[in-house]
Amino acid sequence: MLYIGCHLSASKGYMHMGKEADGIGANTFQFFTRNPRGGSAKAIDEEDVKAFLEFMKEKNWKYILAHAPYTLNACSAKEETRDFALRTMKDDLARMEYTPNQLYNFHPGSHVGQGTETGIELIINQLNECLTPDMTTTVLLETMSGKGSEVGGRFEELRAIIDGVKLNEKLGVCLDTCHIYDGGYDIVNDLDGVLDEFDRVIGLDRLRAIHMNDSKNPFESHKDRHEKIGEGSIGFDTMVKIINHPKLQGIPVFLETPNELDGYAKEIKMLRDAYKEQ
Ligand code: FE
Ligand code: FE
Ligand code: ZN
Repeated sequence: MLYIGCHLSASKGYMHMGKEADGIGANTFQFFTRNPRGGSAKAIDEEDVKAFLEFMKEKNWKYILAHAPYTLNACSAKEETRDFALRTMKDDLARMEYTPNQLYNFHPGSHVGQGTETGIELIINQLNECLTPDMTTTVLLETMSGKGSEVGGRFEELRAIIDGVKLNEKLGVCLDTCHIYDGGYDIVNDLDGVLDEFDRVIGLDRLRAIHMNDSKNPFESHKDRHEKIGEGSIGFDTMVKIINHPKLQGIPVFLETPNELDGYAKEIKMLRDAYKEQ
């Protein structure tokens, strides 16, 4: 079973996203919990969520993935920015409980000159304040390209965060193909080697979502510029290997490529056509 979708605008609510995803051949989707540049979130429309949960059940959909705003930086050097990150994540996680047992992804953050170790410590502190024993959401750390002072460009950094979090059974990882290729993990020439490395350092059981993006830049460029599937330095063949890889079956795949809906529909069809049911 291939769970595949793309990033959608959340401005018209859950049911709208569900129908939109269904209309382009998707069976999951990603959305921002609020404006990606920050700010407050719209109040949850309980009727809309209820209808959407019903729709998911009818369609046999398993996952949706919420993405935290880019401005959320748990390891900023500024206390006020860290405070915003903490309040935003707490609020997002409370909202996530309207759609139980789903996935919430965030960028670990940028340490802005404080050093990776301090960055990791601050991220751990935030997660220890936000995660609660009774929450049903799995919080995903996204693999990053390592541009600027980003934390999470190495699998070891994500491991260190997981190790420091008390309730780390609530944590998983979202693997972004553009980011890790930019970050120096050669999924084009050695996909099995990269997956072995992920398994050794983090554990494949933590891998809960894949962001499938091609890259505008060459291997190890630490740039983070997404390209359409098959039009960048990673290429279509590697994407096909990923969706068909026996170790990656059942993990939902989300496109964050530079596309409007029709472009996403085309990429979803291309990938579905290349998928072999196992
Ligand atoms: Fe992201
Ligand atoms: Fe991503
Ligand atoms: Zn990116």
